Amino acid sequence: MMPGTDMIESNTENASPRAGTLPATDARCASDVDSDTLVKVEGLSVDLPRRREATRLVDGVSFTIKRNEKVALVGESGSGKSVTARALMRLNPKLRLAGRVLVDGIEVLGLPERKLGSVRGKRIGMAFQDAFTSLDPIMPVGEQLIEALVVQGVSRGEARVRAVRLLAELGVSHAEGRMKAYVHEFSGGMRQRVVLAMALICEPRLLIADEPTTALDVRIAQQVLDVLDDVAARRELAVLLITHDMGVVASFAERVLVMYSGRIVEDAQVDALFERPIHPYTEGLLAAVPRVDRTVERLAAVQGSPVAPGERPAGCAFHPRCAAATDVCRGVVPPLRTFGARRIACHHAEERGASDAV
Ligand code: SF4
Repeated sequence: MMPGTDMIESNTENASPRAGTLPATDARCASDVDSDTLVKVEGLSVDLPRRREATRLVDGVSFTIKRNEKVALVGESGSGKSVTARALMRLNPKLRLAGRVLVDGIEVLGLPERKLGSVRGKRIGMAFQDAFTSLDPIMPVGEQLIEALVVQGVSRGEARVRAVRLLAELGVSHAEGRMKAYVHEFSGGMRQRVVLAMALICEPRLLIADEPTTALDVRIAQQVLDVLDDVAARRELAVLLITHDMGVVASFAERVLVMYSGRIVEDAQVDALFERPIHPYTEGLLAAVPRVDRTVERLAAVQGSPVAPGERPAGCAFHPRCAAATDVCRGVVPPLRTFGARRIACHHAEERGASDAV
């Protein structure tokens, strides 16, 4: 069951147009989005209200996702990647959202609560890391899949056929018989396939997969990624994969958004990023990934600890951990600038080769 409505903040300079002011009839407003673009996020900020002042969890992020595109959103814990993804569906009613989120032509932040059903499930499906967040532990999984379609007006008979077909498509063996099973009766890899089925049953155009392989061993994790890859290709799905693991990014995504402390710091095609990371934070993440073409004594990790959202320092939030930091980094937030096909938020991007990078 999806949670209720969000509070919408409308006095931010990033919000264009003011998110909370769109009347319901104006909710479809996609004239500035090309037909290839499925998701367009502009200046999205997410605040957690506190007694004195709000904590900014996500700070003015902008990105697009094309139809059928596989994008990874990567960063350490607390970087704001899950909060950003959930904001696309307005899943957390306690958070204040500002900015603009367009999904398949629908202005999500301006949508009345009663119309959010046109986005949740139908346009965006979400697969959570924890199966027990997606699925009811005391109801057979088949019933849950059928129920999700019945509330959309599909007959029970048709819903059952579609549920069995989807489980089989996702590689759940003996799908017909497994409809009666409970979520705890599935093994780790099979459980993730059932979670994917729940996210895909209403045939969304975007699947958000939040750390879908984190709890699995390497072999099973790769199987789940392969299934996800197949189903995305067959159904012409766009996928936003949330992960902290650059190995998962390399084996699945076409494009990657790197987040640090609630901001996007690098946006690039995966091949180009692995070939030549420009942002020092991206470079640090990649240095921690084992590579077959390189023998190292010990894998590097990004030095220092991530900053908590309420303790984001002035200037570039990465500066306390960055060996390349200078005075301007400590005083001015670096804007996300475009260099060819890449966007980078670093004052010293040019010196680090951004102008020559693809
Ligand atoms: Fe490092 Fe400065 Fe670039 Fe931030 S802006 S990543 S502190 S060099």
